[in-house]
Amino acid sequence: MSSSPRAVPVPISARLFDRATEIIPGGVNSPVRAFKSVGGTPRFIASGRGCLLTDADGNDLVDLVGSWGPMILGHAHPAVVEAVQRAASGGLSFGAPAESEIELAEAIAARVDPVQRVRLVNSGTEATMSAVRLARGYTGRSKIIKFAGCYHGHVDALLADAGSGVATLGLPTSPGVTGAQAADTIVLPYNDLDAVAAAFAENPGEIACVITEAAAGNMGAVPPAPGFNAGLRELTTAHGALLIMDEVMTGFRVSPAGWYGLDGVAGDLYTFGKVMSGGLPAAAFGGRADVMDRLAPVGPVYQAGTLSGNPVAMAAGLATLRAADDAAYATLDRNAERLRTLITEALTAAGVAHVVQFAGNMVSVFFADRPVTDYAAAKASETWRFPPFFHALLERGVYPPPSAFECWFVSTALDEDAFARIAAALPAAAAAAAAATPEGSSA
Ligand SMILES: *Cc1c(COP(=O)(O)O)cnc(C)c1O
Repeated sequence: MSSSPRAVPVPISARLFDRATEIIPGGVNSPVRAFKSVGGTPRFIASGRGCLLTDADGNDLVDLVGSWGPMILGHAHPAVVEAVQRAASGGLSFGAPAESEIELAEAIAARVDPVQRVRLVNSGTEATMSAVRLARGYTGRSKIIKFAGCYHGHVDALLADAGSGVATLGLPTSPGVTGAQAADTIVLPYNDLDAVAAAFAENPGEIACVITEAAAGNMGAVPPAPGFNAGLRELTTAHGALLIMDEVMTGFRVSPAGWYGLDGVAGDLYTFGKVMSGGLPAAAFGGRADVMDRLAPVGPVYQAGTLSGNPVAMAAGLATLRAADDAAYATLDRNAERLRTLITEALTAAGVAHVVQFAGNMVSVFFADRPVTDYAAAKASETWRFPPFFHALLERGVYPPPSAFECWFVSTALDEDAFARIAAALPAAAAAAAAATPEGSSA
């Protein structure tokens, strides 16, 4: 990484990163955190409060990542912290049912109409893995359709042409995924219903499910084209396949009912994570009762988890959903719009071709001259402008996602000071993006 002359020295983060790389592969427990595609030293975070993170060197950063989505209320929200402390003091894990699991499952079903049954798990990856297994068990079919650039966690069968870190690192798939595991996955371009219809025609009676991000957020924010989700609904129904709406990112973020609350297209199965557990490790899948009741112990499709329904995670999720009222969603939408306006103004003033895209209140910046509708277009954008843009913001105390392929996540905690800092930082970032050259790419 060519270090900018203004680079803020972060000696403690640098020391921690060196130490981490000696014991943790790449120094991180999830690849994008390593800053590989933007270069430089990842900030180690010491604490978070409201819209601010404080790094190990004592720098305050306006957080536009929000732990990749969960922290819609900002960090250390008093109601959530209090609920977690109360739950923790009553015991950390029982391996037996507890009332808080029912409460969170009911809260999810109350918000998302098509969800009649809920099973709680520990991560979004587990949720999608289990939903795909259930779809195969229910239909007795093997093949699945996913879309290029959509990320559904690091499930073997779903890594092909995936978004998020797989996109950030430019990987087609992953070694360790066998040909057999990948062979039943049909990868199609996002927003291309004709391709879906053709795949169903070519594989009669063989496709168990279509899994899609309800709105794509892992190749940047790429909303479904008008009619795309509804078309998936029609095609899956017509061919006896299930539609899995992956709302791990959009769920309880873009509206009280997630993306379903925006387009009303019902999936057979849903996956949730991120917001629903308020920053603790919990996730869920759910949907039609007749499908979900094929799960053990009612039915034969096996799925389990030692820590599933963990009482502390349930408390964090419930407190988050209870605080996420209509006013909170209005604030998220307003903050996203404000962020878009600031980014657009700065990049326009600097003469940089760009599109700031929305999927609900998820935002992303593409250095492209027209809207991005699929992964091929996202990859064809001028991603080499992103590292200098990113670092100019970071040096000025604004923390966007360290990847051109990730969404920016606003919280309700962003205040006037935060927006003032973002507004002050953007002109230099836009100038850095304008001055970037493909050769200067640090990826
Ligand atoms: C984050 C994400 C996942 C994976 O969730 P993890 O908790 O990271 O395993 C799955 N699907 C989507 C759409 C996501 O954004």
